[in-house]
Amino acid sequence: MKDLRNMTKSQIVEAIEQIGEKAFRGKQIFEWVMQKGVSDFDQMTNLPKSLIEKLKQEFTIDNYKIVEQLVSGDGTIKALGALEDGNLVESVFMTYKHGNSACISTQVGCKMGCAFCASTLGGIVRNLTVGEYLGQIYALQNLTGKRIDNIVLMGSGEPLDNYEETVKFLKRVTDTEGLNISIRSITVSTCGLVPEIYKLADEHLGITLAISLHNPFETERIEIMPITKRYGIVELLKAVDYYIAKTGRRVTFEYALIEGINDSVAHAEQLGRLLKGKLVHVNLIPVNAVKEKGFKPTQNNRINGFKSQLVDKYKINTTVRRELGSDINAACGQLRNSRLEANQS
Ligand code: SF4
Repeated sequence: MKDLRNMTKSQIVEAIEQIGEKAFRGKQIFEWVMQKGVSDFDQMTNLPKSLIEKLKQEFTIDNYKIVEQLVSGDGTIKALGALEDGNLVESVFMTYKHGNSACISTQVGCKMGCAFCASTLGGIVRNLTVGEYLGQIYALQNLTGKRIDNIVLMGSGEPLDNYEETVKFLKRVTDTEGLNISIRSITVSTCGLVPEIYKLADEHLGITLAISLHNPFETERIEIMPITKRYGIVELLKAVDYYIAKTGRRVTFEYALIEGINDSVAHAEQLGRLLKGKLVHVNLIPVNAVKEKGFKPTQNNRINGFKSQLVDKYKINTTVRRELGSDINAACGQLRNSRLEANQS
């Protein structure tokens, strides 16, 4: 069966005509699927019952069903959803001063092997489709009854390792006839796939690019982020310079502080030297503890010292990210892993 969320407006109209219906019905269906985000054909109240029955035979619409949710004291909701093939991926709903954000997954699992990340523990299973990216947004909107204003591609998976679907998603989710989310409110996070950063710069999409750096020393970064063996830090920073020059957009560097691993004065100094004078912003995030890895977050006084060094000495715009959902273990992959473990035991 075909997933309607994977299809563009013209593809839906064409498919509806192929089952013997008029084009205007296709446009109505597109509105139900892409603007209203319904997850049940019976909600399409302006369609005849006979057409609804036909749609149920030919198409699917509910490609991400939330099977478990954890709600944090700060309002963050972490959802675990089942895809149609039974695979599970996580998405997160967060409320900030500037609106509601969704953090969504782009792959089932991940092959990048970052040492601090629970998503990579079982390797990669498969890429998500553009319809499954969208399905997570609709499911979170339907669950909360609130419109999503900002999107972060920072759940499980490396978005640039699923490049074609990621770019399709960026175009579809900003479509004025669809969800119509501002491109400036979307962040794509990468562990540093250099060729795809160049490609993305050339797409002129206007998204915010976020680089998960996490260590400014090459030999140490290799230990926690094996992608560094393929694309070293110098090469990565060159690609970032290209991205900034091409798009004029400020690039964010994500830096998860792990106690005793990457939070020393020497790390802050090296990070400052690497980024000084560039159009960048550094986000310091105390890492969420991952029990399988034994990592602990850096303590607050040390985080503040790290930040002061970047701001005062190197004049780098730096913030400490508010830890949303820390009471529900919101780091990507953790909910899915506990469900998989429970199923195995
Ligand atoms: S941090 Fe991101 S890129 Fe690295 S393993 Fe986890 S999901 Fe993959």
